[in-house]
Amino acid sequence: MRCQPEPRRPVYNWLKNKQICLLCNETTDGALAICTSCEAELPWLGGHCQVCALPLPSHGLVCGACLNKPPSFSKVETPWRYAFPIDSLITRFKHQAKWPLGRLLGELLSHHLQHAFDEGLSKPALLLPVPLADKRQRQRGFNQAGLLAQWLSALLQLPQQAHWLQRIVDTPAQQQLDAATRKRNLRQAFALSADSQISGLHVALVDDVLTTGATAESLARLLKKAGAARVDVYCLARTPKPGD
Ligand SMILES: [Zn+2]
Ligand SMILES: [Zn+2]
Repeated sequence: MRCQPEPRRPVYNWLKNKQICLLCNETTDGALAICTSCEAELPWLGGHCQVCALPLPSHGLVCGACLNKPPSFSKVETPWRYAFPIDSLITRFKHQAKWPLGRLLGELLSHHLQHAFDEGLSKPALLLPVPLADKRQRQRGFNQAGLLAQWLSALLQLPQQAHWLQRIVDTPAQQQLDAATRKRNLRQAFALSADSQISGLHVALVDDVLTTGATAESLARLLKKAGAARVDVYCLARTPKPGD
C-alpha cells in the first residue's frame, strides 16, 4: 500500500508555486518570500565602518573606536541597520520562533555574503554560531544563531561547527546593560570544546545582531588565542550608535 505521496512531485509543485511576501502578503515573482518593493524598503546598511560595520555618514571609513583599539575580529559583514522592520522581524524570529522569517533573513544574508565573496571578501573555512547558554536555549527551544549558521552553511556551501564554541557561564540578558557591564560579564563566558581545531583557520562567527560588539570581541579573542588566522563576523543587522 502506498501511504506516502510520490516523492518528487510535491517538491516540483512547491517550486512552481509563487511565494507570498512575508511582510505584505502579496504574491511575489521571485524565489524568495519577500516582494521587490518590501525588499527595497529594508534598512540597507549605507556608509559604515569597514571593520565593525557601525553606520557612518560616508563610505570607506573606519570608526573612531576601531581606530583607537582595533578589535580582535577583522570584519563584520551585515546587510542591514538594526531598524524597522528588520528589528521586529528578528524579534519575531527569535522570541516567537517564526522560522520562515528567520529563513528568509538567512537567505537574504547569504545573498549579501555571496556578493561580498564575489567582490573579493576572503571566504572563511568554517562558520561558528555564537552559542546560547544551555538554560536560555532550553527556554527558547533553539539557538537563532545556530539556525542561521545551518542555513548559511547549506546556502553558501561552507562547513559549520555548532558545538566548538560553548557558553560556560550563563550571562544575564545583555540587552539592557551598558558596554562596561557587558564586557565584564563576557570575559569568562565562553570556552572552546575539547575537540575543536581552530589553529591556522579563517573562521566566521554567525549571530543575529551586533550591538556593542562585546560578544564578538570576546569570542574573536578566544579564537585568536587558540590560533585562528582570522575571525570575521556575519550577522543580520548592526545597531547604530546610541542616539543616531
Ligand atoms: Zn511585500
Ligand atoms: Zn568600527
